[in-house]
Amino acid sequence: MTSKAALAIQLSKLKQFKLPKPLLEQYSTDSEIAADILWNAFMLGDIKDKVIADLGAGTGVLGIGCIELGAEKVYFVEKDKDAVDVLKQNTSEGELFVGDVGGFSRKVNTVIMNPPFGVQKRKADKKFVEKAFEISTVVYYIGKTESRQFIEAMCKDAKKTITHFWKYELPLKKTMSFHTQKKKFVEIGCWRIES
Ligand code: SAH
Repeated sequence: MTSKAALAIQLSKLKQFKLPKPLLEQYSTDSEIAADILWNAFMLGDIKDKVIADLGAGTGVLGIGCIELGAEKVYFVEKDKDAVDVLKQNTSEGELFVGDVGGFSRKVNTVIMNPPFGVQKRKADKKFVEKAFEISTVVYYIGKTESRQFIEAMCKDAKKTITHFWKYELPLKKTMSFHTQKKKFVEIGCWRIES
């Protein structure tokens, strides 16, 4: 068993997206935030010995953290081959599903995901939430706090309950050409949703 601080350090050493693609909204979750979210999930009993899906896994930070915290199995679901190449350098554990999230259909105990925020491509995240609800009874959804109405409405329609909400300031590094400031923060949150 590791500690939250040790997990954050370990996750900070993972390889990052080489050339993040704006259209796929490839922002990786900051290692401190990822460690905090995963630690909360671990304490709530949603990780250890569980089968977990990391939807839109990118370079794998969330799923890799789950493996570290004793998950029985992690599915990494990612459609971008370049991201998958980095993910493979980051871990050889878990099972990869390379393709669109819509095509993944394994039932799992817990979904943990930081999907596209739906800023570049409207409602790109809707597909992720629908898939998460289909395959799991417990879902951790990371998104912008301004997506609150969207996620609440989706939960209401699907008769799901939001049991927890945690708020974070995500440092967005200047990784893409259209970013003007060197570093800015985006308010994000993690919602824990249960059937
Ligand atoms: N979960 C990672 C990456 C977040 S970025 C982290 O927390 O760091 C969102 C990821 O979703 C990107 O890697 C992007 O390529 C992937 N993605 C976007 N649309 C997708 C889709 N329709 N199916 C599968 N993956 C998708």
